[in-house]
Amino acid sequence: MLSCDLCGMNISGNPVIEVVNHEEKHFCCQGCAKAYKKAHEAGMVSDIQQKIGSHTKQEKKETSEDAVYFSLHGMWCAGCASAAENVLKNQAGVKEANISFAAERGKVIFDPGIVNIQSTLEKLDKLGYQANVLDSISDRKIERKQENTLLQLIVSLAFGMQVMLIYLVQLYPLYSAGDFISQNVRNLQYLVWALCTPILLVGGFSFLKGAWRAAIARTATMDTLVALGTISAYSYSSYIAITGGGETYFDSVAMITTFIMLGRYLEAIGGSQARKDIRQLLNLQPDLAWKKIGGQFQQVKSEMLAIEDIVLIKPGERAPIDGQVLYGQAAVDEAILTGESSPVEKRPGDQVFAGSMVLDAPLETQVVREVGGTKLSQITRIVEETLSQKPPIQRLADKASAYFAFGIISIAVLTVAGWLLFGHGLGRAVLSGVSVLVVSCPCALGLATPLAITVTIGKTSQAGLLIRNLESLETAAGIQRIVFDKTGTLTRGEMEVVDIQQSAHNPLMPDEFLQIVASVEQYSEHPIAKAIIRRNKKPLLPVKNFEIQRGLGVRADFGKVINTTLKVGTLAYIQGYPSARLETEAQKRSELGQTVIWVGWENAVQGFLALRDEPEELAKPMLLELNAMEITPVMLSGDNVVTTRVIAEELGLTEFQGNCTPEEKAQKIKSWQEEGQKVAMVGDGVNDAPGLAQSDVSITVAGGTTVAGETSDIILTRSDLNLIPWLIKTSKLTRKIIIQNIGWAFAYNLVTVPLASLGIISPVIAAITMASSSLLVVGNSLRLRRK
Ligand code: ADP
Ligand code: MG
Repeated sequence: MLSCDLCGMNISGNPVIEVVNHEEKHFCCQGCAKAYKKAHEAGMVSDIQQKIGSHTKQEKKETSEDAVYFSLHGMWCAGCASAAENVLKNQAGVKEANISFAAERGKVIFDPGIVNIQSTLEKLDKLGYQANVLDSISDRKIERKQENTLLQLIVSLAFGMQVMLIYLVQLYPLYSAGDFISQNVRNLQYLVWALCTPILLVGGFSFLKGAWRAAIARTATMDTLVALGTISAYSYSSYIAITGGGETYFDSVAMITTFIMLGRYLEAIGGSQARKDIRQLLNLQPDLAWKKIGGQFQQVKSEMLAIEDIVLIKPGERAPIDGQVLYGQAAVDEAILTGESSPVEKRPGDQVFAGSMVLDAPLETQVVREVGGTKLSQITRIVEETLSQKPPIQRLADKASAYFAFGIISIAVLTVAGWLLFGHGLGRAVLSGVSVLVVSCPCALGLATPLAITVTIGKTSQAGLLIRNLESLETAAGIQRIVFDKTGTLTRGEMEVVDIQQSAHNPLMPDEFLQIVASVEQYSEHPIAKAIIRRNKKPLLPVKNFEIQRGLGVRADFGKVINTTLKVGTLAYIQGYPSARLETEAQKRSELGQTVIWVGWENAVQGFLALRDEPEELAKPMLLELNAMEITPVMLSGDNVVTTRVIAEELGLTEFQGNCTPEEKAQKIKSWQEEGQKVAMVGDGVNDAPGLAQSDVSITVAGGTTVAGETSDIILTRSDLNLIPWLIKTSKLTRKIIIQNIGWAFAYNLVTVPLASLGIISPVIAAITMASSSLLVVGNSLRLRRK
């Protein structure tokens, strides 16, 4: 697979190809291509590329250090973020740089004695990214950008109203009376020219700047089109104002700028609305913490906290870290981490988790986990990482929009030429060309996918669904079959030993028998193992050569007690024959839906343990819902056939299979896929790895205190099975919205551009239409938030 010459990410789909310095380079997106060209011009290519040895830099001796947070705008893809990171990391004195594409902000840790951070950040400007230092992590800069847009809009409006007044009351009547040269008309033309200039230069500053940037990078964007349109109308009108004898179109310039800026302002509001859920998630981790320093609590930056620091969490505040309560007793709301809506009472010795809210009394806690190791920070990292991925459809749209802009410019030129050719005046021709430039809307194309995805990721992560792989969000919409693991997925996984039976020749006392079984199980993470260890009251004995056969059982060698290898697991694994009595006993247990675990040594069955597990409460309604959605749920279990059948019947499942090893699970999934079905699997990451890897969408449940180590496409951060049908619905809805948006963008341009070219749409109507079109796309994507 090709990888991007800038950011090093794998290029899925067609690369963007640029020839730089007579060499063909491949990029994952236009953003990287642009940044590379700029870096080449600035002689910074080596700075920006991934240096394999660069991490050694961070191992340098600790000196004084300082951290600065900044906002970074102008990034196109995750590659931009890592490219910018590399530029920073390659500066002497910079110890660490982290940039989040999703949140549009970053952090550098640097040595203030060596490096001037302001000038370092300015290096990013050269690549077309705008970095601004933040006093603290906040959205202030984004707000300021929004304020700037508002200011530009107000300038356009204020001057535009006067321009329009002069046109409506004086110039239109005079023009239609055929007066183009009287002193009165000439004076008025100078006046509107003067009024229109600040509209274009101040009101239109942002698109003029954008067009200039694009021109330097030798590309064309939405800004290019609007800038070309307004500048053409303005230049033509200025020419008329100077020479006299014609109609001026300053009214168009004023109206276009005003409507474009109005559209942008509303879009900016829509965009921040789309990021709202994500911002909320990122803000769950407080920036500041009360740390005990010399007997007093002082506010420090949360990420400076270390293990064993004492931290005070005041009522109403969120925990900045994972900590153990030393003093105090308080109700803590952990809903965000566990989904449990009622608060949990915490006392000394209990753990509080980062992001949970302390409700009624202060808690003094001791940090037990690194700031970056908390479940919350793992979650936010995954969310940021996911948002930085680019789905294939987006790459296509990015590429298309650059071609699109050049296409529109060509059509505009042809339009002007056409009108002139058919004998119309320059004024008429310019006006139609301007209409074409202004009416076309590549932004609907570019905006369509990212907005919808941003909204969806925000929503799913808040609900407790982490999407690690964006493509799987798309795939989930088309899933026809979902394979479920039994233990711990459809059942609660909180097992309990309910019966212990020994064969007649087994010489051990019942508690001794349990003791050696528990000793073998001490290295297993399986719910079976935990239940057995919980039941055992005697000390665990040392064992040697412990071995797990996933989906079958465990074994280990005993020196003491039995002096041989003990095996615990399925009957096939034990390789022995139980007595008739044991067999009927086991059968009875299985018929009750209990899991029977056989124990054997010296090629003989020595007994069994029966364990009870309850079906997950939410499982049955969830399976019904899947059926209603015409998705076939299947249970594949490693447990014996009878137990599997009984549990399946309890859950109302018609498709199930017992005695399935992890490999057989994967094999089954593969055979369904070969029949052309899209198959998802829900299981635990340890036991079901082969099946998860084989499935089109893999889902694991991480209800505990960590999500690290989960490699599935999608992680449920709370064990709420209802999230699974919800995910599929959300995925379908997102896909629908994206398709609608893109369909709209195509249809819109296909209709309006020819109309504008034929002169049927005036420039002002064109501006209104275009702004409405992008707002429609924004609004349509935001609909996802409500559902
Ligand atoms: P499921 O598919 O229901 O989740 P697993 O694949 O986890 O079941 O396990 C299948 C069977 O393998 C269990 O029913 C049990 O007989 C055996 N087994 C797995 N792990 C262990 C263990 N740690 N100790 C004893 N038996 C085990
Ligand atoms: Mg399992």
